[in-house]
Formats: sequence, C-alpha cells, structure tokens
Amino acid sequence: MPENGFSAEEFFGDGGGMTYSDFILLPGYIGFSIEDVDLETNLTRNIRIKRPLVSSPMDTVTESKMAIYMALLGGIGVIHYNNTIEEQAAEVRLVKRFENGFITDPVTLSPEDTILDVDNIKKTYGFSGIPITEDGTLKTKLTGIVTRRDIDFELDRTKKLRDVMVDRLITATAGITLAEGNKILKESKKGKLPLIDKEGRLVSLMSRSDLLKNKDFPLASKNKEKQLLVGAAISTRDEDKERLKELVDAGVDVIVIDASQGDSIYQHNMIEYIKNNYPEIDVIGGNVVTARQCKSLIDKGVDALRIGMGAGSICITQDTMAVGRAQGSAVYHCAKFAREYAGIPVIADGGVANIGYIVKALSLGASDVMLGALLAGTNEAPGDYYYEGGVRLKKYRGMASLEAMDKGGDKRYYSNDDKIKIAQGVSGTVVDKGSVAHFGEYIIKSLLHAMQTIGYKTIKDLHNAIYDGSLAFEARSPSAQGEGAVHDLHSYTAPEAALFYPRDRKRG
Ligand code: GDP
Ligand code: 5GP
Repeated sequence: MPENGFSAEEFFGDGGGMTYSDFILLPGYIGFSIEDVDLETNLTRNIRIKRPLVSSPMDTVTESKMAIYMALLGGIGVIHYNNTIEEQAAEVRLVKRFENGFITDPVTLSPEDTILDVDNIKKTYGFSGIPITEDGTLKTKLTGIVTRRDIDFELDRTKKLRDVMVDRLITATAGITLAEGNKILKESKKGKLPLIDKEGRLVSLMSRSDLLKNKDFPLASKNKEKQLLVGAAISTRDEDKERLKELVDAGVDVIVIDASQGDSIYQHNMIEYIKNNYPEIDVIGGNVVTARQCKSLIDKGVDALRIGMGAGSICITQDTMAVGRAQGSAVYHCAKFAREYAGIPVIADGGVANIGYIVKALSLGASDVMLGALLAGTNEAPGDYYYEGGVRLKKYRGMASLEAMDKGGDKRYYSNDDKIKIAQGVSGTVVDKGSVAHFGEYIIKSLLHAMQTIGYKTIKDLHNAIYDGSLAFEARSPSAQGEGAVHDLHSYTAPEAALFYPRDRKRG
C-alpha cells in the first residue's frame, strides 16, 4: 500500500464512476534515465508493438497515410470501414506495400501522352517528375522520365511526351536499401531515381526532395516480411464477412470488430466466424466497459479488448442512451479482469484529450490507447484543411454522427431503420496539428518522461505496480484540477503539440 494516496483498488473499487481528470498519480523514485524506458507493449495476445498508440477506425482519422505513420512510429492504425470493400482493402494494401522513402505507386504516363497530361498531374498532385513506361502503367518497361526542366519552356502543350522525355536514365535495382538509394540520389545529382525489376519494369521511385525526410524508423511496427503492420475495422453484420475476406487477402494483420456495445449475439457470431475461418488473424473485440462483457467476448476467443462507451470527444451516447461508464473506471475494471481471466491486453479507447491521459490510461491497466480527436487535425488524417475565423481546421466527426451515418457509419450502432437514425455522435472541427510524424514523436518523448517521473521503466512494471498496490493514486477536487491546469494568466503560449482542448480548459 502506498504511504500517501490510494492503491488503484482502493480508489476504483467502491463502485464510483471516475475518470482521468479525477485523479493524479503521485511521483515515484527516478533511478534511471529516459533512455532506459521501454514502451513496448501487447496490442493483442500475439502482436507486440513498440509504442502503445493506436489510431481509431474513424473516417476522419485513419486511412493509409495515418496508418503508415502510426506504424512507422511504432504504434498501429486501424483503417475505418465507412467506404466500399474495395476502398478499404486498397488502403490496407497501401500500408502493406509502403516502403519508407520509396514511392511505391508512382504516377506514370506513356510516350503517347502529352505535356498537358503532366500539367494536370501537377495541378492535382503537386509534382511533375513523371516516369514514362511503354503503355503508361507499371506493367510495362520504363522508357524515360519527364521532369519540370524538360517542359517548363515548351509553348506547345499538346506535344507528345515521346518528344520531350529524357531516355538515358540512371536507375537502380528494386530491393536496394534506403541508405543505398539515398547515396545514389546524392551522387547522381538527379531529381528522381527510378527502381526497376529484372525485366526493366518500374517498381518504385525515389525523389531527391525527400532526402531529408527519408529517415529510418527503427522502432516501426513490422511483420516478419518487413511490411508495416495495419489493422482494419469491420462491423458485426453478416455482409461484412465478404469485407473480412478481402481485408485478409490484402494482408491485414489484425481485425477490430467495431461496435458501440460489443456484447451482442452479432459480435459473438462474428468472433466465432473469424476464429473458425482465419485462425491466424488476431481479433480485437469491443467496445466493452464491464468485466461481465469482457468475459463474454473472451469466452468467444478475442485476443484483445477495446474499452470505452460514451467517453469519446464526439460522443453523445451517454446523453442519448443513459448507458456507458466513466472511462477511468471502465479501463481499470476491464483491464484487471482481462489480465486475471485470460492474460489479454485491453486498449483504452476514447476520451484521451491530452498526453497526460495516455499515461493515466496505462496506469489503470491499459496496454494501449486508441486516439481519435488527438490525431484528427494532423496532415495525415483524411480531409482537407480550411479556415474559420482565421484558424486552420479540419473536420472531425463521430462515426455515429448523422453525417457519417449517411455514408454508412451506422453499421456500428445496430441501426436497421433508414428513416429515423439516432445520432450517437456529433460532427465538429479540430485545429491543425501539423504532421503526425512530429506530433507523434512529441507524444512518445512525453511518455518516456512520464514513465521516468512515476518511476517505472516498462509498461509491464507499471502494470505490476497497479496490482501489487504500490502505484499511488490521489483524488483531485475540482479546485485541485484547476490548480493543475494553466491558470491565472491573461494568455499563454505552449508548444503546438502540447495544446489540446480538454473539456475543462480553453486555449489562452
Ligand atoms: P517534382 O520534381 O515536380 O516531381 O516534385 P518534387 O520532387 O519537388 O516533389 C515530389 C513530392 O511528391 C515528393 O515528396 C514525392 O515523394 C511526392 N510524391 C508522391 N507520389 C509521387 C509520384 O507518384 N511521383 C512523384 N514524382 N512524386 C511523388
Ligand atoms: P476521442 O479520441 O475523440 O475522444 O474518441 C474516439 C473514440 O470515440 C473512437 O475510437 C470510438 O470508440 C468512439 N466513437 C467514434 N465515433 C463515435 C460516435 O459517433 N459516437 C460514439 N458514442 N462514440 C464514437
């Protein structure tokens, strides 16, 4: 038992509903440097990742770009299913095919296309270095390349590329390492390096302008074949068995069964179906918030659980349905049960409004956190930026907002009725947070510092301290919460990545 404060069981055991802002952790002893902290954790029974971060399967959060960066950073992204089966499988393939530093699906043209076609690509995608293949696809031989310099001063934009392209190329063989490719690019002084296979077909492209960005991510989440790990969500509906098949064919590593109330006959059937037909695929079930629900899904065979009902920033479930649970209590009780009953990890999903809440979720027994609002608004989240009142924003919406349900997101919420849809989420906006590559690094570095300050080198040690009662929790009165936040300033600045919008604070 801690000398001051309460043990987790004393704090959460009496049945009161408590959440992240209601408590603070008391500091431990710092006997090591942050380089000694290791955030490696279980995502599921069989999958381990180096960082406890998961991006939520929402259509304003996770498509391939987000999933790629989450995996590069050592976490994982879960591709949403508010799209066609083909679209979702294509997003999974993009992640599996991604090779850091290599453009694996370069835009190509044929010698018969014109300079106008390059102009259009420049307008749509922003680049004009275009490899030319015999028939304009990746299936035929590379025959040349067109770059800005070849077409800048050409007045006749209908001229065929055959007449302007450069056909004496410096190429490299696909399969070289990032470092080798970077070296060739530097030495050749060319803007682009095409990588070709034995038959002379274009496989990928490297761009000089990416040289500075092409850094290694040694902790990236990868499988044995060195492909990035990726998850994908499906609903509990029978028709999603087809979706599941396509996702498995596309190489998905883990399936998340997405349901707001996970303990249903529909989810039980889907878990059994996956386990019978794809025993090699790990399944994350949910969402659940009670030990009884956890047992129900564990008995069906899930490999991890997603915890949360009504805690999400865009969520109105608790107001609409009068059902849910305070997220702190939900995570504590479910994590404890899942550990004791089956030794499987839980993911704290929703309501993580700042970096401190990630630490708190881990301190309640979660092995990972799932993030929506925190990642929405980064460059890698789907959607375009726009300005409102001089602030650069992106859209962020609940999957059960009327807007998302109109696009098919209602599969999560057992709605069969096309006429009256009951919204359990809202549509809103979040501010521009820049690239998730930088923002994610900031989060991770903060977590390393937090672990050091609490006094644990690993998430495993932290979890052991919860259950042996040595991790010390203290309740925070409303005024203590005010004191712990920025206060009494006319205005303030902080690093962009540290500025969040917790419910109880406003940006100064
Ligand atoms: P360019 O010289 O006009 O092609 O443009 P830059 O080299 O300045 O910028 C191209 C940027 O777009 C780089 O960051 C590339 O990695 C990126 N990119 C993504 N896909 C493609 C692609 O299919 N072709 C080219 N050329 N660039 C791509
Ligand atoms: P956030 O990180 O924004 O606080 O919460 C994200 C989580 O909210 C998601 O991972 C998902 O579990 C949940 N969620 C997403 N859309 C909705 C919705 O429309 N309604 C409800 N009740 N929860 C949602």
